[in-house]
Amino acid sequence: MTGNRSRVALSVEDLRVHYHTERGAIRAVEGVSFDLLAGERLGLVGESGSGKTTTAMALMRLIRPPGRIESGRAQLGDLELLSLSDEQMRQARFAHISLIPQGVMNSLNPVMRVGAQIADTIQAHEQGPGGEKMRARVSDLLSLVELDPDTAQMYPHELSGGMKQRVGMAISVALRPQVIIADEPTSALDVVVQKRVMDTLFRVQGELDAAVILVGHDMGLMAQCVDRLGVMYAGRLVELGPVQQLLEQPLHPYTRLLVSSLPSLDRRGEFRGIPGLPPSLLDPPAGCPFHPRCPEAIDGCTTKIPGLTTVVADDDSARIERRAACHLHTGVTS
Ligand code: SF4
Repeated sequence: MTGNRSRVALSVEDLRVHYHTERGAIRAVEGVSFDLLAGERLGLVGESGSGKTTTAMALMRLIRPPGRIESGRAQLGDLELLSLSDEQMRQARFAHISLIPQGVMNSLNPVMRVGAQIADTIQAHEQGPGGEKMRARVSDLLSLVELDPDTAQMYPHELSGGMKQRVGMAISVALRPQVIIADEPTSALDVVVQKRVMDTLFRVQGELDAAVILVGHDMGLMAQCVDRLGVMYAGRLVELGPVQQLLEQPLHPYTRLLVSSLPSLDRRGEFRGIPGLPPSLLDPPAGCPFHPRCPEAIDGCTTKIPGLTTVVADDDSARIERRAACHLHTGVTS
C-alpha cells in the first residue's frame, strides 16, 4: 500500500451494463458508482451473477454483444474510459488499466515461448523496442513477478499453475498500468500457492504504485488482502467501506447474512449461500432487489429502490467512509 491514498485513481459513476436477449434486457450491472483511491486495494465481492465480473469487464471495455454498456463514466486520470474510441481503448489497456482475468493461466499461447508472449504485449503498444533491449525488459518483468529470467525460453506446458499465473501477471503489468483489475486471480491454485501469488501481486502493485480492484467471492481472502470492500447484489453495489469495519459491523442486511454464514474470517470462507435465490435480472422485483430474501424488510422496501448513500462520513478521508443501499439507513417508511 503506497502513495497518496486519498487521491482518486479511478472514478466510476452510474455504470450500467445490460445483455439484450430475445426475452428482454438482463440488467447485469445497474447504476454502480465508486472511487478507487490511489494505491489502495478495493475488493468487489458477490455471489455468482451479482455483476462483479461484468463491472470489471466493462471497465476494460471488454463487454461483447449481446452485452452493452448502457451508460456511465469511468474517469482514469485524463481518460474517460467509456467514451474512448476502440483504438484509444486498445492503447489504454495494459498501459493505464490492466486485467488479470479468471483462468489467465489457460489463456497463454501453448505454442509460443513465454518471453515472446510478454514481448508481444509490449510491441503491440510501443514502437521500437527489440533485440537485446526487449530481452532485458522481459527479464526484468519475470524477475518482478519472482520468476527466473530463463523462464522466457520455456513453453506454458513446462510451467506449474503458479508459474503460469505469474507469467500472466507479468504480461498484465508489462506497461506499468495505474490500475490493475484482478478477477479471481488465484481461484485455480491451492491455498499455499495462492498466498504466494497474492503476495507477489501486492508487492508488484507497490513497486508500480498502482491501485488494485480484486474481484472474487472468497471473503476470507478479501479480509486478508484488501483495504476496502464493495458488496454487490443483483447488479448493484449495496455496501462499500473499510474491510474490517464492514465485516465486523455490516450495515446492509445482505452483508450481515453473508458474514454470518462464514465459518471464520481467519480462514478461507466462500459464500455458502443464504436462504432464497437472487432475483431474475430480466424481471427484478420492484423496490429493493433484496426484499424477497431480507429478514429486516420494512414497508417502503417493496416499492422504492434504495440508493447507495453515505452512512458514516469523514471529511478528511474517503478511506473510512461507509456507504450502504438500504432503507434502514435512509429512513424511508412507505
Ligand atoms: Fe432489506 Fe429493505 Fe434494506 Fe432492502 S432496503 S436490504 S429489503 S431493509
